Amino acid sequence: MPDTRYVFVTGGVASSLGKGIISASLAKLLQSRGYKVTIQKLDPYLNVDPGTLNPYEHGECYVTEDGAETDLDLGHYERFLNVPTSQANNVTTGRIYQNVINKERRGDYLGKTVQIVPHITDEIKRNIKLLGNKNKFDVVITEIGGTVGDIESLPYIEAVRQLKWDLGSNAIVIHLTLVPYLAASGELKTKPTQHSVKALLEIGVQPDILVLRTEKELSQEIRKKTALFCNVDSRAVIQSIDVDTIYEVPVKMQEEGLDEIVLEKLKLPIDHKPELKEWKNFLSKLKNAKKTVNIGLVGKYVELNDAYKSIIEALIHAATYEDYKVNVNLIQSENIQKDNVAEKLKGLQGILVAPGFGHRGFEGKLLAVTHARENNIPFLGICLGMQGAVIEFARNVLKLDKANSKEMDHTTPYPVIDLMEDQKNITDMGGTMRLGAYDCKVLKGTKAYEAYGTEHIRERHRHRYEFNNSFLEQFEAAGMKASGINPETGLVEIVEIPELKWFMGVQFHPEYSSTVLKPHPIFRAFIKKAIQELKVTEKQK
Ligand code: GLN
Repeated sequence: MPDTRYVFVTGGVASSLGKGIISASLAKLLQSRGYKVTIQKLDPYLNVDPGTLNPYEHGECYVTEDGAETDLDLGHYERFLNVPTSQANNVTTGRIYQNVINKERRGDYLGKTVQIVPHITDEIKRNIKLLGNKNKFDVVITEIGGTVGDIESLPYIEAVRQLKWDLGSNAIVIHLTLVPYLAASGELKTKPTQHSVKALLEIGVQPDILVLRTEKELSQEIRKKTALFCNVDSRAVIQSIDVDTIYEVPVKMQEEGLDEIVLEKLKLPIDHKPELKEWKNFLSKLKNAKKTVNIGLVGKYVELNDAYKSIIEALIHAATYEDYKVNVNLIQSENIQKDNVAEKLKGLQGILVAPGFGHRGFEGKLLAVTHARENNIPFLGICLGMQGAVIEFARNVLKLDKANSKEMDHTTPYPVIDLMEDQKNITDMGGTMRLGAYDCKVLKGTKAYEAYGTEHIRERHRHRYEFNNSFLEQFEAAGMKASGINPETGLVEIVEIPELKWFMGVQFHPEYSSTVLKPHPIFRAFIKKAIQELKVTEKQK
């Protein structure tokens, strides 16, 4: 087997240019040529992981099967590649420093002065190579967070410089920059790219390939000019033009020959061009869908699309396979009141209550549940959304006044959602929840079983609270059933109301494992029911 090859993806000029999508697209193209590829994200902030970050700060926190709380770019990697990532795929400066300081405390540095170079850079290099060595990947794509020139990313770029030197042609650097269009003069400008490459060169890194993000087609002339000023082949100047959907990027990158130039530089064989048949099939469904289904996503981070990234993508995957577009209405739960709930949730064929922490906007979520339950509108509650469905049922059907989760009300007389036993003595916030994939047994004859078509599933979790089993009998007798149970602990993982058309709450996060080629069964079932609703209302017109 040939040595693992390393591709580093850096960014310049501006943030949010889509390094994650470019990395995932390249990985997709290499994977479809039969290479074993993985992607890693290095984040230059001091938090040990993004688990403790507010979604307003950093978007959604994505959870891997092995229970790592990671950057949302890992979600893109999984959605594109259809292979699971792990803790090793996301490393932050906080984790790097923590490891180095732990080693220092153990005395591993034998009295030496511990410094950024070589100790921090060595730890960065170790983490990069770990993936290649351990899992025998053909190609490891490492995305360096932040923008070249930031103080914070300097040690990472230095580690890349050293690795490039050590590994020779087994390592290359792709630099992603922006070519802005000046409307006043009608020109595309390459100067920011030239400056950004200069900034990289100052710290000793010559990029091998440039990917230029642009809103207008780049002429051959512009490509040649950029190549000349930045010391790269003109074939290695790749255009990344704005597209309607991120799922089009792999196709665009293939047209531009990104995978071929990468393979050439890494001295790996370039055989036939992969067809990307299934991918293109999905894409054409996505583009050609004519009808739209309306889903309400009720949460408290709605001002920011990224906070519910995986949920929105999972809804898109599911709707696309039904040949529908999905219109996701983000509804601020804080603004939902008894007298406006019907107005706020008007015209929706499905209501999804989002995960979350803390009491802000929670009562609004409960009103959304009541509205869905009483009007028999397809409903999906995820994590806190499931807990909300339970609390709503307790208050309004079981008539347990002031029933609540202990998270929201310590003194509730009816703690239908309670802290898990093994969470009771935990005081640290970071990495201490019930995290990662757990087995669940799905009961036959339920809507959950209908969706999954199997009794044995494994889903990813991220929570501290759970359904309080001492109330289970009461719930079941009144019509809310537990349809998924953890076989080891007996924890309730799925609840549903069989009497309604489709009403389900899941304690886990199905959105994390929905991919382009494998849409998640729960989202598919939910969307299917919502589409049925649409058809009924259309007939009535
Ligand atoms: N706050 C709830 C808990 O910790 C739900 C968490 C979530 O929605 N991810 O149990």
